[in-house]
Amino acid sequence: MKFRLIYPRWKKLDRQTEFHLPPHGPVVFAATLPEGIDVEFVDENVQPLPADDHVDFVGISMMLTSQVKRGWAIADAYRATGIPVICGGIGAMLHAEETAAHADSVFLGETEGRMEQVFADFRNGQLQKVYDFFNDHPLIGSVGPARRSILNRELYNYKGVQMVDLVHASRGCRFNCYPCCVSFLGGRTFRPRPYDKVMEELAGIDNNRLFIVDNSLAQDKAWEMGLFREMIPLKKKWCCHPIENDDDVLDLAAQAGAWYVYQAIIDTSDYIRDRIKRYHDYGIAVEGTILLGMDHQTQDDIKRLIDFLLEVNLDLAEFTVLTPFPHTRTREDMDRENRVLSNDWDDYTTDRVIFKPRHMSVEKLQELYHYAWDTFYRDESQNIKMFKLFKRVIEKEKADQTFRPRRRELTFRRFGRAEAPQG
Ligand code: SF4
Repeated sequence: MKFRLIYPRWKKLDRQTEFHLPPHGPVVFAATLPEGIDVEFVDENVQPLPADDHVDFVGISMMLTSQVKRGWAIADAYRATGIPVICGGIGAMLHAEETAAHADSVFLGETEGRMEQVFADFRNGQLQKVYDFFNDHPLIGSVGPARRSILNRELYNYKGVQMVDLVHASRGCRFNCYPCCVSFLGGRTFRPRPYDKVMEELAGIDNNRLFIVDNSLAQDKAWEMGLFREMIPLKKKWCCHPIENDDDVLDLAAQAGAWYVYQAIIDTSDYIRDRIKRYHDYGIAVEGTILLGMDHQTQDDIKRLIDFLLEVNLDLAEFTVLTPFPHTRTREDMDRENRVLSNDWDDYTTDRVIFKPRHMSVEKLQELYHYAWDTFYRDESQNIKMFKLFKRVIEKEKADQTFRPRRRELTFRRFGRAEAPQG
């Protein structure tokens, strides 16, 4: 049976340098397919959809709200030719009812141990309209290595340099942050994978550079320290979401190959200043994720925040605008206060102001979004900052003799800064 798995395109952030990482959800899903399924993966962000429709069954994997309308359009087109479509992923879970109107079947939840039944139902002409495993999680130990062989790796590079591979060591999150839907999706349960399963997967990835995509590693100090201890011998280099703010943990993380972290920066407090300094003290770079438009922020606060990011020598910054995603506390509050300005999911790109800000006009917050990007990268462009980050990983790899130069990296080495991407 030929199964085409499609990852719909979405619009990237205005002002951000465009590059594409290999997606994680589809390769985790593909690992759960039964034997004998001929899978063809199409990532519409890096390649066109095939013109032919010589497939038996189509799966559409959606992660983002800004992806769902495109996913639905693709589903409608296949169904119009008589090819059945199943949709899944976080985007389908957040928009379950709407997605059901565009698909023969919607899968809600995690797929380990469940795809045999779905494909048997398909073969028997008994595909169910909804497979609802919301908050009915499979045993975390049953999560095996992702099936990265479905990816065309040539499509994932930035100026000739291969991108990181994505991998996860846990699922869920015990927190419930204001703008986030993860607690809705995972029920506030942190579910770490067994160390041996994670190490088996890490060791099998033919790429020394990884992105550990767990929601936050700062969930359980003992688990986190154990994970880093296990990782040290592998000598991988990796980025991740926050690491516990603790010297012992950061020391182990650095030994295990921590390269840089994505750290939310919410204010200009000494706590945040010290947090960034501490990462730097352990040789870990910081990419700040900065949300603009929170109710406590005035125009002056946002301007002061950008100055602060420059003062603390943040390595990279990604600015987004507060967005009232479904199933978040933000959405609840804004619905109650009648502040949501758009329910067109194509607008939910996080670079557009689609709500009434508390302390400024819509236009002013939009202007400040552009001000933030332009000011932070005024003296040194995103490309140059990314190049510096890249140089840093090469230095770490040279230090422990894991550097495997690719064609473009040889050029960097030969010509040094003169060959840095121009930005
Ligand atoms: S923002 Fe991160 S830490 Fe907070 S609830 Fe979401 S996933 Fe968890």
